[in-house]
Amino acid sequence: MTDTLVAVEGLVKRFYLRGQNYVGAINGISFEIGRGETLGLVGESGSGKTTVGRCLLRLVEPTSGRIRFEGSDITQLTKRELKPLRSRLQMVFQDPFASLNPRRTVRQTVEEPLALQRYAPAHAWLGMITEILKRVGLGPQYLDRFPIELTASEQQRVGIARALITSPKLVVLDEPTSTLDPTVREEILGLLRSLQSSMSVAYLFISHDIMAVERMSHRVAVMYLGHIVEQAPTAAIMADPRHPYTRALMSAVLSPDPARRLPRSLVVGEIPSAINPRRECPFYSRCPIRLDRCLDDVPPMAAVGPEHGAACLRWRETSEVLAEVAPE
Ligand code: SF4
Repeated sequence: MTDTLVAVEGLVKRFYLRGQNYVGAINGISFEIGRGETLGLVGESGSGKTTVGRCLLRLVEPTSGRIRFEGSDITQLTKRELKPLRSRLQMVFQDPFASLNPRRTVRQTVEEPLALQRYAPAHAWLGMITEILKRVGLGPQYLDRFPIELTASEQQRVGIARALITSPKLVVLDEPTSTLDPTVREEILGLLRSLQSSMSVAYLFISHDIMAVERMSHRVAVMYLGHIVEQAPTAAIMADPRHPYTRALMSAVLSPDPARRLPRSLVVGEIPSAINPRRECPFYSRCPIRLDRCLDDVPPMAAVGPEHGAACLRWRETSEVLAEVAPE
C-alpha cells in the first residue's frame, strides 16, 4: 500500500455486563486502508465487523487501541475536535429505508450533512445536492419525494448521495446491499465502484458475503469472534486461503469456476459466545484441524506471503490437512 489513509492498531471494544463480565466485541485488531482503496471486512453475523465500522467513525467509543486517520489518532479527540472530521468520514447503512427519515424529502435528507457540518455556503447546497443525485443516477424530479415514494434501489442511492455529498475520504459501507434483491444488489455495487473511481474515496466494505467482498475489494480481512484471522490482497486470499475459517466461508458458496471450488468444509455450528473470551485460538471450538496447543494462546498473525497474514498455527498445511478430514 503506497499511501495509508487509516491505520488501526490493537483496537479493542468491550461491552461491560454485570461485575467483571464483558462482551469482547473486538479483541485487539490491526489493519490499514489506503487512499482510494476498498478493504473488505467479511465474517458471520456476530463477528464484530459492524462494531469495527462504528468505532472508525467514533459512533461507539473504543475501549483501547489507536485509530489513525490521515496521521492523527482520532481516539484521542474530543467531540468538538471530532466535528470537523465528520465530513471526511461517512457511513452507508444496511437497511436503506430504515436509515432514511420518513418525514424528510430527498433534498432534506441529502442536505443534512451539509447543514450539520456547515459545509460550503448555504446558497450552494441545492446545486451540490442536484449534482450528487445525478452522480447516483437520480434526476432533479426526486428532490421533493419522500422515502416511501422510492424503490429500494432509489432509497439506497439517496443514502449513498447523503454519505458522499461532503466528498469524504472514507465511507464505511455496512452491508449496503444485504436487504436488496440480486439485480438491485449488482446495480448498487457497480455504482459504488464507479463512484470510487471518480471521487477517489476509500471504502471499508462490511459484508457476510465473501463473493460480494471479492468483487468490491482490493484487500480482504476475515473476522471471527472479534479477531482478524486472515488478511491479504483479494487475489491472494481467494487463490490461497490459509485459515480454516476463510476456507469455510469460501466453501459455503459455489464458485462458477470449478477450478476454484473448495472441498466442503467440516466447520459446523454457530459462532460461540463472545462473553469473557479466553486467550486461545478463537476458532478452536469449530476448527476441524485443531490441536491441543491451539488452546495455549491466541495465534499470532503469521506472514504467509507479501501483505498476506493468517492467524493459524497450521497455516502451512491448512489445505492438505483439511482435504484429509473433509467428506467426499
Ligand atoms: S490455530 Fe488451531 S484451532 Fe485455530 S484455526 Fe489454526 S488449527 Fe484451528
